[in-house]
Amino acid sequence: MFIAEEIHRITQALPAGVRLVAVSKYHPADAIREAHAAGQRLFGESHAQELQRKTQELADLNVEWHFIGHLQTNKVKYIAPYVHLIHSMDSPRLLAEINKQALKAGRVIPCLLQLHVAQEETKFGFTPDEARAFLDSGEWQQFEGVSIAGIMAMATNTDDVHRIREDFHRARLFAEELRRNYIPTATELSMGMSGDWHIAIDEGSTLIRIGTQIFGERQY
Ligand SMILES: *Cc1c(COP(=O)(O)O)cnc(C)c1O
Repeated sequence: MFIAEEIHRITQALPAGVRLVAVSKYHPADAIREAHAAGQRLFGESHAQELQRKTQELADLNVEWHFIGHLQTNKVKYIAPYVHLIHSMDSPRLLAEINKQALKAGRVIPCLLQLHVAQEETKFGFTPDEARAFLDSGEWQQFEGVSIAGIMAMATNTDDVHRIREDFHRARLFAEELRRNYIPTATELSMGMSGDWHIAIDEGSTLIRIGTQIFGERQY
């Protein structure tokens, strides 16, 4: 019941143009079934092999699988045949590998460029300057197996709502720059988690990624 209720509560609060990715990492397949029965279709996972296993266990469901965590290049092959959107494209090398595996699978895989805006050393992603250098290089334009569909960002892990808003705001400004200067069709802005999704929506998010609020504390 809890899962269905939370999904309804969240989706009813979403403005037009914002979609919910239910983050099911570390939760069993049954929890995903419950969410699916409540109408949820977009699910986010952050480990390639866990995702691989769940797609097999849940092959009977129509689900859009999103990959949201740091993706090692040697794991891309596990998810390339079916992944709907990779939110966490965090290096040129990873994009090249996604392109390679996508071509092998006969697909074009949409990716979001992960932008590092948090005031923390440990997070993955391009700084705005690194992202500009990468985009200016034009290297990505020769990749026919990938499309850059927008930006993903995480705010600083803090209770300071001003800090969080500032981080999201910088991500939004960069997303606008991306569209204006490089890729007009890159309209997705993936930001907002259980603790900060209201702020993310204020700042222009189009995809919120919520785990704990829907599924509770992560298991196994
Ligand atoms: C785990 C995770 C989430 C979900 O976080 P919650 O706080 O549980 O909602 C969102 N985005 C990414 C990238 C994650 O790894």
